[in-house]
Amino acid sequence: MSRRDELERNLEAVRGRIAAACADAGRAPDDVRLVVVTKFFPASDVRLLADLGVSDVGENRHQEAEAKAAECADLGLSWHFIGGLQSNKAAAVAAYADVVESVDRVKLVAPLAKGAHQRSHEVDVLLQVSLDPPDREGRAGADPGNLPALARAVEESGALRLRGLMAVAPLGEDPRPAFDRLAAIHRDLLVEHPGATWLSAGMSGDLEQAVHAGATHVRVGSAVLGSRPQFK
Ligand SMILES: *Cc1c(COP(=O)(O)O)cnc(C)c1O
Repeated sequence: MSRRDELERNLEAVRGRIAAACADAGRAPDDVRLVVVTKFFPASDVRLLADLGVSDVGENRHQEAEAKAAECADLGLSWHFIGGLQSNKAAAVAAYADVVESVDRVKLVAPLAKGAHQRSHEVDVLLQVSLDPPDREGRAGADPGNLPALARAVEESGALRLRGLMAVAPLGEDPRPAFDRLAAIHRDLLVEHPGATWLSAGMSGDLEQAVHAGATHVRVGSAVLGSRPQFK
């Protein structure tokens, strides 16, 4: 089977899962956007995916993302940055990313806004919220209590557009109650920021639970591209 056929088959299966989950939750299938996470995979795969109708791709490492976005600049894709962000790289990320999903602290806002401003292009921002207990090691994402200040900082930055929230289900836990908590946090955010309607949640293993809880974006890697190499 060619790589194109393999990706096509996998995409069809994932789109089928999303459609089934939407039907199950009484939602319209075009309510949920598929972001294909292409980290570790070559630009040639991104090209095949674009040809197969994928419009949004996700990357989590700055150097790899920057290179791939440049190589694939002709495809008109929307690039989502979904990885941990260092403040000294944030301006460079905003130079190519259309959506930055992993904004988890106020310190990132000024450099992201600077990068967006230099490009004369508004960058969409999601606030990454942690669903882990506060004492969990390697916890990524903002504490829910810090979201109001973070959301205000993004709104006041000028060059960034606050679009909503992103989260990853905690490891080793049933994702369902975690995504229900996320949905409640999202409803709270919407009171002050009614435009922040996007909810990015769900990956290859738990997209159904995320769609059920109201996800508007699912970030799917291995179910489309196959398993990633284990080394970094
Ligand atoms: C890698 C990654 C994904 C995709 O994970 P899969 O299990 O391969 O679908 C989704 N979200 C984030 C934040 C990631 O880093």
